[in-house]
Amino acid sequence: MSFNLPELPYAYNALEPYIDARTMEIHYTKHHKAYTDNLNNAITGTELEGKSIEDILLNLDPENKAVRNNGGGYYNHNLFWEILTPDKGMTPSKELSEAIDKAFGSFKAFKEIFSKAAATQFGSGWAWLTVHKGGKIEVCATANQDNPLMPHIQCGSPILGIDVWEHAYYLNYQNRRADYIEAFFNVINWNKVSELYHKNK
Ligand code: MN
Repeated sequence: MSFNLPELPYAYNALEPYIDARTMEIHYTKHHKAYTDNLNNAITGTELEGKSIEDILLNLDPENKAVRNNGGGYYNHNLFWEILTPDKGMTPSKELSEAIDKAFGSFKAFKEIFSKAAATQFGSGWAWLTVHKGGKIEVCATANQDNPLMPHIQCGSPILGIDVWEHAYYLNYQNRRADYIEAFFNVINWNKVSELYHKNK
């Protein structure tokens, strides 16, 4: 058994003008595909073969760089495509909205904190909104393809994530990472983020 590249839930151009079709196509067919293939190569014939990706990340040996980088890359991009949407007008569920207000004061304050975490992640990485058991939510950032579930990170379960590797925005935004982050907020699938909040709280 091996991991499959999940089907993209919309067309490459569906998120334009916020995320351009060429970036989407390369990101999905080259980068995500490579993480998937390299993860499969890394676990084939090992005790990790047949385990779920969540199980692999939660019990990761951080010294196992092939699984750390490619298992993280596989999971992170699976989540990333799911929490994006071309559909307009979505908002967080009532309960998630209340959790955001409780943790950050307001949605506006959350957006500022999340955007700052994404903008200031040095080099390649991700910024996340995560939930802990009990419902507390938190913003954190990770380097490279690290993920909040990993034992050396332990920042809860990710419910929203933004990829700030240059491959995620450079064709359209060049060095303007802040503009990409601002644009990202127009294509968030809050129905999915809310669903993940309820499932993992
Ligand atoms: Mn990426």
